[in-house]
Amino acid sequence: MILFICVLLYLLTSTLTSKPAAGRLQWDPSGYVIFCPCMGRFGNQADHFLGALSFAKKINRTLVLPPWRTYKNVPFNDWFKTEPLKKFHRVVLAEDFMAKLAPIHWPPGRRSGWCWLPSNDKDRKCAMKEGNPFGPFWDGLKVDFDDYVIYNIGYSDTNTWQKVYPPAKYPVMAFKGAPASFPVQEEDVALHRFLEWSDTVEDEALGYINKHFPGDVFVGIHLRNGPDWANACEHVGEVHSYMSSPQCLGYSGEVIVTGKLCFPPKDEILRLLKNVVISTKAKVVYVATDKDPMIDEIKEHLKKQKVKVFHQDPWLPQIDLAILGMSDQFIGNCVSSFTAFVARERKAKNLPTSFWAYS
Ligand code: GDP
Repeated sequence: MILFICVLLYLLTSTLTSKPAAGRLQWDPSGYVIFCPCMGRFGNQADHFLGALSFAKKINRTLVLPPWRTYKNVPFNDWFKTEPLKKFHRVVLAEDFMAKLAPIHWPPGRRSGWCWLPSNDKDRKCAMKEGNPFGPFWDGLKVDFDDYVIYNIGYSDTNTWQKVYPPAKYPVMAFKGAPASFPVQEEDVALHRFLEWSDTVEDEALGYINKHFPGDVFVGIHLRNGPDWANACEHVGEVHSYMSSPQCLGYSGEVIVTGKLCFPPKDEILRLLKNVVISTKAKVVYVATDKDPMIDEIKEHLKKQKVKVFHQDPWLPQIDLAILGMSDQFIGNCVSSFTAFVARERKAKNLPTSFWAYS
């Protein structure tokens, strides 16, 4: 009996005083940043993600890794590893944050949404969950908001953020959109080196390569030529920066974005591709596209070079991105953030990238 009581007492005290069980998270007193990657599709979201990562680091708050947003929430680690990001800054998966930390430290009733609104617009409310994807995103994390914080401080003014919003008073900043600009700022491009594909995505990309053209030198190309893109490029006009164009034209905005840079004509695509295939002695061209892979035209134009042309319509666009990232030479669309994702990854790995209609 005495032995039984001793064991019981030991178990009770050890439960109460033991270190956190494996998987249990410590609350970060420096606070958290969480946001909805609610603008655009994956390329846009990835740009915003890097900016938000940089912002969280500068204001010294843990970044809650949001699910990516497609027609549903996709947990961040379905597509990317979390460990490499920790080499740069403190991060926690949104699902872990909600399950393990939010119930105690950010419980229902104490959740404020954060919106940027111009200072002369004091009457407007911060509609955190109004519309798609805002509502479904927060619903996916089971978050409702009780109050809101309206700010109009620029994201680069990080000292002001820290002064005005101390973590003791504002433990969680839950932003309606990414606290970052689009396209990604020049100084944050290199942060891409901390984004590493999950094993699932990487294995699938490698599996495709190994099945279809193992060991062959290959050129990866991105043809962004769907109707939405044709539309977007019609309005390029005489601008110095358009969507992701700084990735090739630079951030100073000295060069004008041309219609060809945005929507390269087929003859330009065939011309540059042939040059690159000849100079790299590639035996394979891998085509990623949202619409027209130009397979027959490419085969015909590169008849002499005897290249094999591959294209798939992968169930996940990320498979295309990962394959393009692994190519020996990549040619992409300078205005597209989908291309920009590949170009940043390749820059981090010291791999070459060219752009259509840009020399
Ligand atoms: P952007 O519009 O080109 O700046 O890039 P986004 O990624 O923001 O939006 C384009 C979307 O179209 C992508 O996220 C994909 O869903 C789709 N898409 C565009 N190009 C490709 C491609 O080469 N392959 C695949 N699988 N999907 C693409």
